[in-house]
Amino acid sequence: MRELTCIICPIGCALRVYLSDDNKIERIEGNLCPRGTEFATQEILDPRRVVMTVIPVLNGDLPTVSVKTDKPVPKKCIEEIMKIASNLVLEAPIEIGQVVLKDICGANIVATRRVRKVK
Ligand code: SF4
Repeated sequence: MRELTCIICPIGCALRVYLSDDNKIERIEGNLCPRGTEFATQEILDPRRVVMTVIPVLNGDLPTVSVKTDKPVPKKCIEEIMKIASNLVLEAPIEIGQVVLKDICGANIVATRRVRKVK
């Protein structure tokens, strides 16, 4: 049995996922709505997360820009994304929502704040 907290809404139901010996989902308990079942199924079979980090910026009014993936990516991709991001350096200006890296693990990395150019 695995215990999870549903993060789909603020109620945060405590979910219990019963698994067979070969790790198949037998039943899910503790959810107040069907979205908890969907969340637990995804979390067990294909867990995903939005990845957030910061990247250095040259010639900007801030030294770094915060970025995130534009959709949740498989958890197994997080290390690869962090490694690639750690080798990036961007040039100002950067706008909110600007794609700074395309198509990594099925997602784009986008800026979450603006960095203005300083001469
Ligand atoms: S199971 Fe439904 S009610 Fe409970 S936390 Fe998840 S979304 Fe909210």
